[in-house]
Amino acid sequence: MLRFAPSPTSDMHIGDLRVALFNYIVSKQRNEDLIVRIEDTDKENNIEGKDEEILGLLPLFGIEYTQVIYQSENVRYHSAMALQLVHEKKAFSCFCSPEWLEKKREEAKINKKAYSYDDACRNLPHELVIDNMNPFTIRLSRPDKAIVINDLVKGEISFEPDAVDSFIIMRQNKTPVYNFACAIDDMLNDISLVIRDEEHMDNTPKQNHIRTSLGYDKKVEYAHLPTILNDSNEKDDLPSVKWLLEEGFLPSAISNYLILIGNKTPQEIFDTKDAIEWFTLDALSKSPARFSIDILRHINKEHLKNMEATELSRYVGFADANIGELAKVYLEEASTTKELKSKIEAIFAAKEIPVEFTKTAKIMTETIKAAPYFEEYDDFKNYIIKESGLKGNNFLEVLRFLLTGTVNGPDVALVYKYLKNYIGEIVK
Ligand code: GLU
Repeated sequence: MLRFAPSPTSDMHIGDLRVALFNYIVSKQRNEDLIVRIEDTDKENNIEGKDEEILGLLPLFGIEYTQVIYQSENVRYHSAMALQLVHEKKAFSCFCSPEWLEKKREEAKINKKAYSYDDACRNLPHELVIDNMNPFTIRLSRPDKAIVINDLVKGEISFEPDAVDSFIIMRQNKTPVYNFACAIDDMLNDISLVIRDEEHMDNTPKQNHIRTSLGYDKKVEYAHLPTILNDSNEKDDLPSVKWLLEEGFLPSAISNYLILIGNKTPQEIFDTKDAIEWFTLDALSKSPARFSIDILRHINKEHLKNMEATELSRYVGFADANIGELAKVYLEEASTTKELKSKIEAIFAAKEIPVEFTKTAKIMTETIKAAPYFEEYDDFKNYIIKESGLKGNNFLEVLRFLLTGTVNGPDVALVYKYLKNYIGEIVK
């Protein structure tokens, strides 16, 4: 079983979507189920409705899952397992106050040493524990040897016991910390492979240690994906998936781009179904990938070119293959459905005639309104010339303006080919 484990604490950004996509692709390749686990135990930072929003986005990208689990519903298991660890003396109550711990952390900083808990409460005599009325956390005792992770992307990484530390698993208010909840849920859900962002790499030995301490010996594989950086080489402020969709990027193009970056792929343009055939985690680069809106625009354009014309026309408010073909003509100057829509809207909008065209445009409009239907552009053009007596340099410019709302743009003959059934609606 694989899982995608989003936190409902912010918009889903492209890094999260890439994690979801890779989990989906590998679950298909391995013929294992994919579940979604909403990691909602950070109550203070949860944003109402974000879970539904994330769940609503996944199907747009063809990401199918078999079950949705809310982490907060598993808290009773987290508590029970913390208790088991205490019983087995693998975990202990820690009465060190947050202020005291902060002081120790500061001292380590001043002495330029990596902070690690000093295990002050690890071997407290029972009576000191029983009689102690102060609030306490529960810590899992540090491992006694290094923990080695064989990451499918990053390779072998070893973590010394001090790097794992005797870390807190239950807070003073007896809620599980993220690492504890996550490790147990992966165990309860029989997860075989965890694919997630590399920002979680340091959590992995801890989660591993939690499960080993609980006697769970099934091997959980890990693949940590190199982070996606933005234009300024930062991890933050990556575009949200919702924003990209609003800007007119197609889900198929966004998926294509996210599978492509930092990867070796057999071709540049593909869909997720193709990727299931050849995707492998070990082809991914170990270093961060850089997000580029220009490359995404290029890929989006290619997907729009390949789209069936009637389907494309729906994105711009029609259900007509001719309008879809016309939209493809505009791909010379537009890359998103939003940009295409504004081009098509300009064609059908009431037009504000530039002053220098006023006279010609008036005569031409009247002539076109009285014209019969012409199948061929040349016949249409010759009719206007003949009936209106107009000619001269700006004839074509004015005609293009009346038909498209702009003076520059695609060949008028091409535009006519796709718009000939709409002339009455366009030239009013
Ligand atoms: N909830 C974590 C996040 O959204 C994911 C943790 C995991 O995949 O293990 O970053």
